[in-house]
Amino acid sequence: MSDPKNIKRRGLMLVLSSPSGAGKTTISRQLLELEPDLSMSVSATTRPARPGEVDGEDYFFITKEKFHEMVQNDEFLEHATVFENSYGTPRAPVEAALGAGKDVLFDVDWQGAQELRDKAITDLVSIFILPPSKDELERRLHARAQDPAEVIAKRMAKASGEMSRYDEYKYIVVNVDVDRSVYEVQSILTAERLVKERRGGLHGFVRALCGEDE
Ligand code: 5GP
Repeated sequence: MSDPKNIKRRGLMLVLSSPSGAGKTTISRQLLELEPDLSMSVSATTRPARPGEVDGEDYFFITKEKFHEMVQNDEFLEHATVFENSYGTPRAPVEAALGAGKDVLFDVDWQGAQELRDKAITDLVSIFILPPSKDELERRLHARAQDPAEVIAKRMAKASGEMSRYDEYKYIVVNVDVDRSVYEVQSILTAERLVKERRGGLHGFVRALCGEDE
């Protein structure tokens, strides 16, 4: 009898979006530690690296010329301009992971989520993370202190616009407590992995259960 853990499935694309400062990065990091079958899609960007960011881990930091070339060559699954910089999701690693039954986590803005929805609706599981309050969002943006004040002000101004997009996502997590939010996102992932349409190996498994292979 085959092992239910080995039922073949296609990987899914887990998209997390939020306004800057809602806690998405912390939630993503913890989720990646808990879930060995989940890996982060590393985006390419034209923005300069922040202190502590590592090329190839946080982003692929590339020039505008290289970005343009990748757009021309259709090497991005989606791309968008956010805060005057360009961001894009390299296509090849995502397609390889999904085909191998591995899940991919995306930290993209609402434009990226929209484009992914248009291109890959059946593979997509989308979650929007909201902060518990406006004051808390502001406090978190200041506490991060990696960006100059004018960048923080710009992000606050943008936050309401981003948050008004919540309705385009399937799941909404309000990040009051990080542990709780990680638990909620992990629960969504666990349930979505069990959706029968993603589990190409089910047919054979049930046939074996019914003794049709023996
Ligand atoms: P940051 O510069 O703070 O790392 O990211 C700014 C915004 O760009 C965030 O909302 C983040 O989700 C978004 N972003 C990062 N990578 C991508 C990407 O590959 N595609 C899109 N559409 N947005 C991205």
